[in-house]
Amino acid sequence: MKSEDNNFTNANLDDAIEALSKNLYLESPDLWIEFQDKMGDKVFDEMVLFFAAKYNSFSIIAHAVENNLINLDSPSRNKSYSTVRDHIISVAKKNKHTRVCEYLTDPNSLISDSSDNTSAENTIEEEVNQTDVFIPKFTCPTCNTNVFESGYIVSTNSIYKFSKNEKTSKKISQETLDPVVCCNCNSTIKGITPEKLENLCHVHSCSKCGLDLKTIGIIDKLKMEYDKGSDKFIKKSASYHCSNCDNKISDYQKEYFNL
Ligand SMILES: [Zn+2]
Ligand SMILES: [Zn+2]
Repeated sequence: MKSEDNNFTNANLDDAIEALSKNLYLESPDLWIEFQDKMGDKVFDEMVLFFAAKYNSFSIIAHAVENNLINLDSPSRNKSYSTVRDHIISVAKKNKHTRVCEYLTDPNSLISDSSDNTSAENTIEEEVNQTDVFIPKFTCPTCNTNVFESGYIVSTNSIYKFSKNEKTSKKISQETLDPVVCCNCNSTIKGITPEKLENLCHVHSCSKCGLDLKTIGIIDKLKMEYDKGSDKFIKKSASYHCSNCDNKISDYQKEYFNL
């Protein structure tokens, strides 16, 4: 753990820890005690990041990542996810915390942008209001609607335990089950999982095959038109395509990649 002395000097981080602490207290005093212990020991593990993602505590996540307090690519304790990163992204996605998602997907995209993170909710509002938004697509094989528009049902298994403090049964964990059901025709969609659908939502994923464009690459197609005056072909327009399936990338993705 490097720069230990500086870890808690950031006022935003302190505010974020306090805000998350309050949320956890309301959720379960047992959880709150565990969280307080971890903060006392300056431990930023998967559990801390899980709740930071759930409650949109951007500062906490950025602090853990930028100070290498956690290896996001280590195996997740939740068997549904292969890495801590996948798990935390999934939580942020479920709670529609776009900024956390994009940061975890590519920390460089938002690095050193953690000064105004207490207004992260506003950032999400702004993103939602953009007209030129990347819209993922997955067609239900039964009714042919885009499930991202018609909706899809994901089931979860929740585990409850009795809380001595609250004298009631409290949810201690939740995991997502694989089958996805189309809201439009009510049929189970074979060959897709909630995780795969989430991958399709990432701005850097191909909207057709879902592969990560940053890994597989894109193809730059240049249209040349014949110009009578100069008796030459001149560059007319360029378009960018997924190198795996040739699907044209959207204007929003073009902007995102600075093409
Ligand atoms: Zn359907
Ligand atoms: Zn593709």
